[in-house]
Amino acid sequence: MSSSKPLKTRQLPKKKFHLLIFGCQMNISDAERLAKILTQIGYEQTKNESEADLIAVVACAVRQKAVDRIHGKVRNWQLVKEKRPLVTLLSGCVLAADRKKLADKFDLFIDIKKLDTLPEQIQALAPEEKLALPDFFDIEPSYYSAYRAYVPIMTGCNKYCTYCAVPYTRGKEISRPSANILEEIQHLLEHGYKEIVLLGQNVNSYGLDKMEGIKFPELLQKIDKLGDNFWLKFLTSHPYDMSDKLIKVMTKTKNLNDYLHLPMQSGSDALLKRMNRHYSIAQYKKLIRKIKKSLPQTAISTDTIVGFCGETEKEFQATASLLKTLKFNMAYLSQYSQRAGTAAAKLYKDDVPKAVKKERWNKLNKILTKNSLDFNKTMLGQTRDALIDYVDKTGNIYNNIGKLSNYISVHIATTKPLPIGEFTQVKIVEAKAWGVKAEVVK
Ligand code: SF4
Repeated sequence: MSSSKPLKTRQLPKKKFHLLIFGCQMNISDAERLAKILTQIGYEQTKNESEADLIAVVACAVRQKAVDRIHGKVRNWQLVKEKRPLVTLLSGCVLAADRKKLADKFDLFIDIKKLDTLPEQIQALAPEEKLALPDFFDIEPSYYSAYRAYVPIMTGCNKYCTYCAVPYTRGKEISRPSANILEEIQHLLEHGYKEIVLLGQNVNSYGLDKMEGIKFPELLQKIDKLGDNFWLKFLTSHPYDMSDKLIKVMTKTKNLNDYLHLPMQSGSDALLKRMNRHYSIAQYKKLIRKIKKSLPQTAISTDTIVGFCGETEKEFQATASLLKTLKFNMAYLSQYSQRAGTAAAKLYKDDVPKAVKKERWNKLNKILTKNSLDFNKTMLGQTRDALIDYVDKTGNIYNNIGKLSNYISVHIATTKPLPIGEFTQVKIVEAKAWGVKAEVVK
């Protein structure tokens, strides 16, 4: 699949590595590449942390929660290290300030932009031989799933939202060469993959860093031509770069799912300005109207932050009202937590009390639960494909859990298990706030 030369295999006794991911799909994609490198230099992956010789953590810098969980884990590993050799490695979108705090607690830190330096760094711990390695986008990943693949198309971000660390941890936007992306997806489809999720901090700005070459709408068209029966999604879009051309292309992309994630973050213009989001509420609403007009079946999810610096009750109410009006069927709600090193940490005070953040979060969650149930009710009676993710058994009944193309969770009770990683045609029979229940279409 990769055009680069195969990596040399390190002749050492098989050691085991365990991967821990604290983050989003982009971190999963990073981890898939990191796992591949470790495998290629002689490590074997284990799901059992206690038997690992190397523990690799891929973490996200956007959320303080991830960093707190790492601190907790690190304390346990220090106790393990007193009894046996253990190498610990940290990577992902980790801010310099966190790296500084954690530096002496991990044996290695790998800058995610320089993942290709991993063997050299491991080698420095046990210097045996020289390895030749490709760069980040050339690293063939070890996919987590045999039917759903996360394919990075760009990395980094030029938007500099004041609360976000990504532009500092991943740097400026770099688009992956389209030939490389198409080659990876072609390979995945030939191997029976059913769902391709294109990843990037801002996929809409794909190609804008290059003077020549194709942009995101053209990339989507090219990917669409690679096959006929697969699901195609992309994450994440920035409203500023969601062009009319892209919306038009989306209407003609046959494999594209009826799902779009479009972060709104706040319903107040003043807050959006403090967040440096580059759009106003009027522009965001206009964009949603356009998308709904062109793609009426598309389920739109969003991201919303509550308790951002200086958020007044009035500003919060504006967010709650917009969440109600725009009827997102899903929203990732987060309570703001300040990250050292971000612009917000320098410019503003994290002055909304924790209890207020929690209360506001609960209010938004109530609105979201209602929106979600209302949306799911609109699917009653529809016949759709479900992609089955796992199956468990209660008595004689199999509980098949999967996703619909619009990312809604589906539960199908059967007397025989449905095939995991395959499409099954189902009819929606019951709507819940968390998803829908369905029956297999005979
Ligand atoms: S668009 Fe904003 S929130 Fe998203 S990665 Fe870029 S800076 Fe971060």
